[in-house]
Amino acid sequence: MAWEFETDPEFQRELDWIEEFVREEIEPLDHIIDHPYDLDDPIRAELIPPLQETVRERGLWSCHLGPDLGGPGYGQVKLALMNEILGRARCAPIVFGAQAPDSGNSEILAHFGTPAQKERWLQPLLANEIVSAFSMTEPQGGADPKVFTTSAVRDGDEWVINGEKWFSSNARYAAFLIVMAVTDPGNPPYRQQSMLIVPADAPGVEIIRNVGLGGDPEGAGSHAYIRYSNVRVPADALLGPRGEAFMVAQTRLGGGRIHHAMRTVGLIRRSLDMMAERALSRTTQGEQLARKQMVQEMIADSWLDLETYRLLVLRTAWRIDKYQDYRKVRADISAVKAMMPRVLRDVASRALQVHGSLGVSNEMPFAGYVTQSFHMGLADGPTEVHKATLARQVLHDYEPSDDLFPTRHEPKLREQARQKYADVLKRHGRLPA
Ligand SMILES: Cc1cc2nc3c(=O)[nH]c(=O)nc-3n(C[C@H](O)[C@H](O)[C@H](O)COP(=O)(O)OP(=O)(O)OC[C@H]3O[C@@H](n4cnc5c(N)ncnc54)[C@H](O)[C@@H]3O)c2cc1C
Repeated sequence: MAWEFETDPEFQRELDWIEEFVREEIEPLDHIIDHPYDLDDPIRAELIPPLQETVRERGLWSCHLGPDLGGPGYGQVKLALMNEILGRARCAPIVFGAQAPDSGNSEILAHFGTPAQKERWLQPLLANEIVSAFSMTEPQGGADPKVFTTSAVRDGDEWVINGEKWFSSNARYAAFLIVMAVTDPGNPPYRQQSMLIVPADAPGVEIIRNVGLGGDPEGAGSHAYIRYSNVRVPADALLGPRGEAFMVAQTRLGGGRIHHAMRTVGLIRRSLDMMAERALSRTTQGEQLARKQMVQEMIADSWLDLETYRLLVLRTAWRIDKYQDYRKVRADISAVKAMMPRVLRDVASRALQVHGSLGVSNEMPFAGYVTQSFHMGLADGPTEVHKATLARQVLHDYEPSDDLFPTRHEPKLREQARQKYADVLKRHGRLPA
């Protein structure tokens, strides 16, 4: 019997330490640090590095990485349990060296980078001395990368990049960008583009504007609309094989998507915790909100949403550890990605509702969580695309029926059963002898 739902006591001790450290040391930072990726912010520069040092000393730095890159090489199940805690605080992933998009970018640098690229970009990225951006989506389309037009053309020993990218998160703070560009327009559609490493200060890299998310004040955003005008990078700026940007992107996004899901479990749990406390604390018409059946339904539904989603995330993490091959868990990862926005949106909306006017105010985080659920339904691909991937994978395991009626058409099954047990039925007079 291999089904287990328990954390081993030794790792539970680490989780307990992380829980307290996040609560006591990191959660307060969320109220005073505007953007944890802004390495030039003096408050961030004073407060975050000492905490990162504590995490390193504890052996919990960049737990998604193997020992060759300075991490403990935790499997995905351990990461899932840990990320549930980190997901509760905006600054926690960066304190633990596990923040997106740097974690995904470091994964592809580790996987595909040349020794020189690793030395120049990967080592400082892993140490959080720099941050990075991933520049793939274009203004004319994101869900379908086949419509991208940003090009990189060889000119002697250099690539010359031209085009525009949209929503390159954290580009304003990044030391380099990983840019997806068409290098081989004559190839089949999925082999036309390559990944290139572009230093953020290369001449011709221009942030047209930093787009904010709904509710951000103008100019406060960190999702860059970027123009690349005749940007020259050396021939060896190619990351991964030429024409294989799709394959490189998949390597990156597989891990990224499941890590987002793990952190989201933390936000969902936090919403439920706050909802339950409020339901027990507030009275109306002489009784606790918790005694109102419709509030009870909201709490029960939220618990069910949380626990089912958490199990799906943990099962997916377990399958990633078991198969060590993202192609074998594509359906699972798409399922986790597709379900994530709905569960967060539903639970956060109920928590907002139970808190009444306070819930909708800017004194509670729920409106932010609801908005965030919409980000999750887009970043790393829209929900619809993931549902389509999941459906295709599910359908792989089925065959069409070549009969006019379905295989499990009751009259057909009944006739087959009658033939199989004809002797018995005849003996009992249920069929003519
Ligand atoms: C918070 C956030 C951070 C992001 N960070 C980055 C980043 O760092 N780097 C980067 O390159 N990009 C980033 N993105 C962009 C993200 O990858 C795109 O938003 C996403 O791929 C969708 O592209 P789009 O916005 O152009 O929408 P579109 O491609 O225009 O799609 C719009 C809508 O059309 C529908 N749709 C699309 N395709 C299908 C389909 N096949 N079937 C059914 N319906 C469909 C969906 O409802 C979809 O939401 C980020 C986005 C967000 C929200």
